[in-house]
Amino acid sequence: MQGEYTARRIEVEGIVQGVGFRPFVYQLANLYNLKGEVLNTSSGVSIHVEGPDKDIDSFCREMKNNGPPLARITGVSDYPETVKNHKSFSIAESREGASRSVLVSPDVSICDDCLRELFDKKDRRFGYPFINCTNCGPRYTIIDDIPYDRPNTSMKHFRMCGKCQAEYDDPGNRRFHAQPNACHDCGPFLTLFDNNRKMIDGKNPVEKTAGLLKQGYIVAIKGLGGFHLAADAENDKAVYTLRKRKAREEKPFAIMSYNLEIIKEYALIEPEEAALLSSFRRPIVLLKKKAPNPLSCEVSPKNKYYGTMLPYTPLHYLLMQHDFTALVMTSGNRSEEPISIDNDDAFNRFSDIADFYLTHNRDIYLRSDDSIVKRTAGNNRFIRRSRGYVPEPVFLTRNTQPVLACGAELKNTVCIIRHNKAFLSQHIGDLENLATLDFFELTIRHMKRILDVYPEIVACDLHPDYLSTKYALSQKNVKLVRVQHHHAHIAACMAENMIEGPVIGLSLDGTGYGEDGKIWGGEVLIAEKSRFTRAAHISYIPMPGSAAAIKEPWRMAASYLYDAFGEEMWGLDIPVFKEKSEDKIRFIIDMVSKKINSPETSSLGRLFDGISAIIGIRNKVCFEGQAAMELEMLSDDNTEETYDYEWTEDDNLYKILTAPLIKGVVADLNNGVHQSVIGGKFHATVIRLYTELCKIIRKDTDIERVALSGGVFQNSILLSGMVKLLEKNGFKVYTHKLVPSNDGGISLGQAIVAGTDI
Ligand code: ZN
Ligand code: ZN
Ligand code: FE
Repeated sequence: MQGEYTARRIEVEGIVQGVGFRPFVYQLANLYNLKGEVLNTSSGVSIHVEGPDKDIDSFCREMKNNGPPLARITGVSDYPETVKNHKSFSIAESREGASRSVLVSPDVSICDDCLRELFDKKDRRFGYPFINCTNCGPRYTIIDDIPYDRPNTSMKHFRMCGKCQAEYDDPGNRRFHAQPNACHDCGPFLTLFDNNRKMIDGKNPVEKTAGLLKQGYIVAIKGLGGFHLAADAENDKAVYTLRKRKAREEKPFAIMSYNLEIIKEYALIEPEEAALLSSFRRPIVLLKKKAPNPLSCEVSPKNKYYGTMLPYTPLHYLLMQHDFTALVMTSGNRSEEPISIDNDDAFNRFSDIADFYLTHNRDIYLRSDDSIVKRTAGNNRFIRRSRGYVPEPVFLTRNTQPVLACGAELKNTVCIIRHNKAFLSQHIGDLENLATLDFFELTIRHMKRILDVYPEIVACDLHPDYLSTKYALSQKNVKLVRVQHHHAHIAACMAENMIEGPVIGLSLDGTGYGEDGKIWGGEVLIAEKSRFTRAAHISYIPMPGSAAAIKEPWRMAASYLYDAFGEEMWGLDIPVFKEKSEDKIRFIIDMVSKKINSPETSSLGRLFDGISAIIGIRNKVCFEGQAAMELEMLSDDNTEETYDYEWTEDDNLYKILTAPLIKGVVADLNNGVHQSVIGGKFHATVIRLYTELCKIIRKDTDIERVALSGGVFQNSILLSGMVKLLEKNGFKVYTHKLVPSNDGGISLGQAIVAGTDI
């Protein structure tokens, strides 16, 4: 006998439902010949186990260390129990409990077992576009409430056939309690329509769709978290047509390829990128282009990268097997509206975009765009954190009272804190239209429901006009906490790195409402989670025309030049003056000098825009950050030479002057120095000057930890260079790896600030 015969109750918390955890426990218990039962509760999984003490110990160790691939255990508690003399080990009925704190799994790409069956002619699910099992398939996007049981998902409309039901009921089967389990006979199915909503006959809608794409047609395809608009990425005309119809002039399109080998035909893949592409989360990964390559230059114009992903649903695999190098798979939306998830809605919204529609009858309850990740400075960096990651929480250092944070205006996400976990929503989008606002409110309701938490603390931005602020203000019986945008950025970085303050926070950004009502963005803060002081910023510069100055960087160029040269600017021989008439520029300078519609900004994003325009890269942008992005793409990333820089100091607040830098750039232009060199020197200057400021602040405050956040850190040259130089100077540097450095991470920071007691 291996020790005393005892009984124990083990409570497991984390992502342990809908991931095959109970069958795993069942099989493990049988392996050790233990008796008892396992069941789902509202807080996770509860196990009653009886047997020799030593075997129970081994069972527990094994359970913690070798769980099913998608399970994530966040807590195990263990209690002595009375022996009940169970005859066997069984899986018992779910139990409703008071607390509903089980974690919902993100959506998971098709697993290898299902993929094998999908292409196995002898399998009863051969070619079935909705094949799934406990280890894969939709989750977050089809769930309406917890616990994660079929009646609480959009699969409730499909009654399992005898064969599917038998699999579902068999603890030894891979499909035991796989909620979306289905087959050709009983599950959802595909239908292909033309642009007049006429159903297209044919046995194999996927094969037909592939044929249409090859002919250059644009097809709206319903996926996991919403519709994609698809086109053959090798077909110039098709991609160009999609751009025109979608009114998306130059922003890169995401593409999908069948496997890594095919991606290697047009892009370079580092081993870490290959792992990321192939992970069950299947994000879009930004990969360096290979030249020449077979894809249309319309896919990702003026960009060094392709946003590429592998297929993640069985439907994608069935489609991609038809010999495409790549398909454009861009979010199915109209310009900045949320991605479409509903068939009727898609027919209406894409009537002048798509030629055909490949749809299905499994509802998507909650839309979720594809996530976008880029590898920079040795780590994964989110540009968008959504499908495949949401609703996995960010773990916090300690328990915090429940908070709802409403996020920023652009790239909005919301965040709910429950205990020691912060749940960020999927990407909601730019809160500039009603459709997005509806989605924002729906997501908040949905998250409250599946997390079963109704926070009485609500956090929002300082900006009075943001729709998210207005929403927060309209909430009754809550404590409202308003959080400065750049403080929120730094707090988010501190939270995901599990550090407490104080830190030197480099919040390098485009736009954020400042405490003085001005537009901040090139900020150095001394920050704790609950408070901050401003230590340095770029000196204020007028933005002629306000929002128009963001869309038209030449306005910023004029403003910086006027600041640096005054009236002497008119004699300069530089690209920006060749494209715009003197009258136009004078008009802008008039606005600046008379302070008409020219709010002041300390934004670093605007400085990038301004430099981009001055050196002739871009005067006007089609999407946010385009001018800065093209400047990055052109810049030499190996330069250490810098321009002169200078700041003033007043009562411990440093103001960075832009004039010396602008003068240096203009001097180089006049000497015929190439754009790539000027761009490289500009990046090096920004890196050097912020590092020097950090050194001064360290002297004054003894703080050696630096947190980097803000949208400008999506710039790889800047992020890598900043980390390198700060570390070389002895700083401990913290960066974003779990949430975006852009405004997609703001809600986490707001929640942390609001949830931290002052
Ligand atoms: Zn599977
Ligand atoms: Zn079936
Ligand atoms: Fe920001």
